[in-house]
Amino acid sequence: HVNRGVGKGPSLVVAHGGRDRGRVVNLDHGDPTMYEMFWKRMDEETTIVIPGWQSVSYFSDPGNPCWFMEPEFAKQVVRIHRVVGNAVTENRYIVVGTGSTQLYQAALYALAPTGDDPNPMDVVSVAPFYSSYPLMTDFLKSGLYKWAGDAKLYDKEGPYIELVTSPNNPDGEPRTSVVNRSQGVLIHDFAYYWPQYAPITSAADHDLMLFTVSKSTGHAGIRIGWALVKDKEVAMKMTKFIELNTIGVSKDSQLRAAKILKATSDSCEGISNSKVENFFEFSFNQMTLRWMKLRAAVRKSGLFSLPDFSSEWCAYNQQAFKPQPAFAWLKCEGEIDDCEGFLKKQKILTRSGRHFGASPKYVRVSMLDRDPNFDLFVERLSTMSQIEGTTP
Ligand code: PMP
Repeated sequence: HVNRGVGKGPSLVVAHGGRDRGRVVNLDHGDPTMYEMFWKRMDEETTIVIPGWQSVSYFSDPGNPCWFMEPEFAKQVVRIHRVVGNAVTENRYIVVGTGSTQLYQAALYALAPTGDDPNPMDVVSVAPFYSSYPLMTDFLKSGLYKWAGDAKLYDKEGPYIELVTSPNNPDGEPRTSVVNRSQGVLIHDFAYYWPQYAPITSAADHDLMLFTVSKSTGHAGIRIGWALVKDKEVAMKMTKFIELNTIGVSKDSQLRAAKILKATSDSCEGISNSKVENFFEFSFNQMTLRWMKLRAAVRKSGLFSLPDFSSEWCAYNQQAFKPQPAFAWLKCEGEIDDCEGFLKKQKILTRSGRHFGASPKYVRVSMLDRDPNFDLFVERLSTMSQIEGTTP
């Protein structure tokens, strides 16, 4: 039986003994299934019923620049940022998207110059960067923008877009922009700027900020993200992109996301059912425990290393803590050059550093999988020095 609670450390070895030895542990994607167990306890608070006559129209809010955005969704976005204190929403336009993935592309379209400039605008981000950025940027070979690699190496004059992901995917580092030239525009990807992963040091206040329910509440399958945008023209161009791409964003998904965000804020403010734990306390404690287990396994094996973070004061948690990211940026020490290949032999699937503009000595490992998978991963990692020693 694998449905064990977290924290029953000694039972791990027994539970995972022989039977799980051949099982492949796939931690390649950042699939946030860890959160399932919390939401199972919040059945009543998060279930919605949508009758057949509802969501018939394309339109949600014709007076809003983002005319396909459900007002209840916008209301819950503003509320969650007020509750958590991670972003300024005053004097901002909200644009809803099919995940922040669609909003990223909408933002590139909106920020690239519209004139007849024959040169696509350069898009840069400091390595290691989220592996999907180069792929998404160049997928359609746009004439408006193109991927230009590591922002630290970028020395060209002219207009550019810098992507700032903070905390960063894959390595969890807090980030600020580095290029700092006059013709630059910034996109801040705040998918992970939530208090279970990193201290909320201040309310982010940038021109274009991206958020998503995928990593905040863990509802990646609902496919809903949002952008907070200062400039009305930019918000309107992003809306136009989505109009031409998908004529809006599923209302059913927006309503579900609104309900989940409401339940999350309620849980933080103690409004809902008193049995229910604060979502960010639950997820924070999960991440703390998982990082403790992972660091212990890494110490035991002696084959790997992990980033060290400094502690900062979190205005939401009212305590200082070190980042506990959604991904582990694991480095194979010593002679192992292909960390992904090495782990694959132990039936652990991860993503090589080379997809992130970094060395293959690194891999990115999801920290958000279900308990049995995560536990099996750390158990295997901790015994790897022996495997190394005994394998010819
Ligand atoms: N930005 C970053 C940094 C991410 O890690 C991810 C998901 N892996 C996304 C954006 C995309 O998220 P969504 O599910 O909202 O499209």
